Amino acid sequence: MLKMENILENVESPLLFLVEERVKTFKHWPFGSNDKCNVRNMAEAGFYSVATGKEDADSAKCFLCGKELDGWEPSDDPWAEHKSHAAKCAFVQLGRREDELLLSEFLSVIKQYMINERKRVAELAKEQIDERAKLVKRHLSRK
Ligand SMILES: [Zn+2]
Repeated sequence: MLKMENILENVESPLLFLVEERVKTFKHWPFGSNDKCNVRNMAEAGFYSVATGKEDADSAKCFLCGKELDGWEPSDDPWAEHKSHAAKCAFVQLGRREDELLLSEFLSVIKQYMINERKRVAELAKEQIDERAKLVKRHLSRK
């Protein structure tokens, strides 16, 4: 039997498919609650903050398609921006907040998120292995 808790246990990365988890990432978001692209609207449209400092304070990324956007204007609508820059995103195509999704839709979002995460982790691992292999080769050719 497939249970929600069991599914969540298998996700090692932050639970960014949950809107409240995305809200938490916007620590230094330069826009206020009266702006169209406020934290709540950003998070509901699938974005989380990937800011590392002041210069990229308005960098945000979609948890599902990975599209990264910055240069936000106060009047920007996060859903509209998401749609115009990543029309193929599965979250954009559902086009609704998580709490408005059917369970089956939400599960498919989580599944896609987990597949993407696995791919990302696998790519990172491959890069590290390639890097190691290069070092070993260089080391051997010196002898
Ligand atoms: Zn997206």
